[in-house]
Amino acid sequence: MPEVLQVGGFEPFSTTDWPGKLCAVVFVQGCPWRCGYCHNPGLQPRQRPHGAPHWSDILTFLAHRRGLLDGVVFSGGEPTIDPGLPDAIAQVRALGFQVGLHTAGVHTRRLVSVLPQVDWIGLDLKAGEAAHDRVTGVPGSAKAGLEALALVAGSGVEVEVRTTFDSELLDDSDLMELARTVRDAGLQQWTLQRRRWLAPEPRMAPLPPPRLLDEARQLGIQIHWR
Ligand code: SF4
Repeated sequence: MPEVLQVGGFEPFSTTDWPGKLCAVVFVQGCPWRCGYCHNPGLQPRQRPHGAPHWSDILTFLAHRRGLLDGVVFSGGEPTIDPGLPDAIAQVRALGFQVGLHTAGVHTRRLVSVLPQVDWIGLDLKAGEAAHDRVTGVPGSAKAGLEALALVAGSGVEVEVRTTFDSELLDDSDLMELARTVRDAGLQQWTLQRRRWLAPEPRMAPLPPPRLLDEARQLGIQIHWR
């Protein structure tokens, strides 16, 4: 019997979750990290929320979308914590879809096991070693996050490494450590997105100083802002 994926939500059609692809997005329920800027705190507990879709219903839906979507993205929460992820990916591939994965690399052994079945990864790189646990709120999280970066960078799978920039969590030296971490992993592209707050009034984290971004570019890193 395949392990059943614990789903917290489902988006049947997205043009933004996998660059250049039309995809459906499956939000896996649960994440052990506690990033202050998490946009989906409702997906952090592992318990299945009331009214969440069942994986079997999503598969039935997807079977009727063959030829209409390029792929399916597994997002979260953190999809690698779910023992049902490898079977779910295999089922989606069997329907003929490409597979994308959003991950921060929480469960590296499961990440290794699914890498050969994944076409694209959006890797959420929280920080370099010094600041990683501060961002996630979880001691020891840096090991998994940085292992995941090395694994993905060496896998040959297409990857977008992205980091949420929050000036209250990452200072200038943290940002430079991140740029060196991306370079040392052998990657040249790095996407930065500024933290957004919606309350008490909408605002965004300030941009880092241009001097710092120039220093990062001098390492051979191309920075993309989202
Ligand atoms: S790793 Fe992602 S899902 Fe987990 S708390 Fe951080 S932002 Fe939220």
